[in-house]
Amino acid sequence: MMGKAELVIPAKADLGEGPCWDKQKGVLYWVNILGKTVNRYDPETKENKEIQVDQLVGTVVPRKSGGVVVAMEKGFYFLDLDTEKLTPITDPENHLPENRFNDGKCDPYGRFWAGTMSLSEEQGRGSLYCLHTDLKVEKKVGDLTISNGLAWSPDHKFMYLIDTPTKKVTRFDYDEETGKIANPVAVIQFKEGEGAPDGMTIDEEGMLWIAHWGGARVSRWNPETGEQLLSIPIPALNVTSCTFGDSDLKTLYITTARKNMTEEQLREYPLTGGLFKVRLGIRGSVNYSYEG
Ligand code: ZN
Repeated sequence: MMGKAELVIPAKADLGEGPCWDKQKGVLYWVNILGKTVNRYDPETKENKEIQVDQLVGTVVPRKSGGVVVAMEKGFYFLDLDTEKLTPITDPENHLPENRFNDGKCDPYGRFWAGTMSLSEEQGRGSLYCLHTDLKVEKKVGDLTISNGLAWSPDHKFMYLIDTPTKKVTRFDYDEETGKIANPVAVIQFKEGEGAPDGMTIDEEGMLWIAHWGGARVSRWNPETGEQLLSIPIPALNVTSCTFGDSDLKTLYITTARKNMTEEQLREYPLTGGLFKVRLGIRGSVNYSYEG
């Protein structure tokens, strides 16, 4: 069973990103990176609360002890969604004012992983960091251009990472106890004409769901064979990320972006920038919370 993409919020976001389902609260978080907002969408009330922040905000994850954690232009911060107060944690790229944080997620142990990129998308300037539960930060991968799309396999043995311009998904061996990653292997390669891989999530069968920047779709892939299994059209050109939500984890929520679109493309895809959803017969894996 596979539904059609439905528009949830006509947000017209320049760069909608980072959808993340909070299972405890039954709400969806997402960001508009260029609009500098953190959003909390409640599917029960259909209310979207928008919190304005003072920096480019790359991603948001739930924090187990309450509130959320965000990775922004100037590092990691706790954010209280009620008072809207930001508390800085650490900035591993204090010395790189041309960089900002981009996509990130929590791992099964409760660490927060997030990657950086240069504002001008200069090649190899980004890195992937891990914020441990003791608030210490560690650089994990260097030489990235646009760090995106993290996911962990259901057996917790692998981590998947996307560096968008390479059009590849890389798999690492992952150790849940220590957070060590090793042995990177390219497991998926996008073909010409499909756009570029951006955000990503994983379902309970271990298949990856990838958003196509410039490709107007999300697709499901088998990381063991590199084969594309499904492709779902989205009425938005730049599809940025996706995550499973709702109480049964069978709704795929999808963010999109109007950034860099021509007048003609906006006429063809007027809903771009909105938040979308698709009902699926497949259950997703849960988004982990930060346990620090
Ligand atoms: Zn992204």
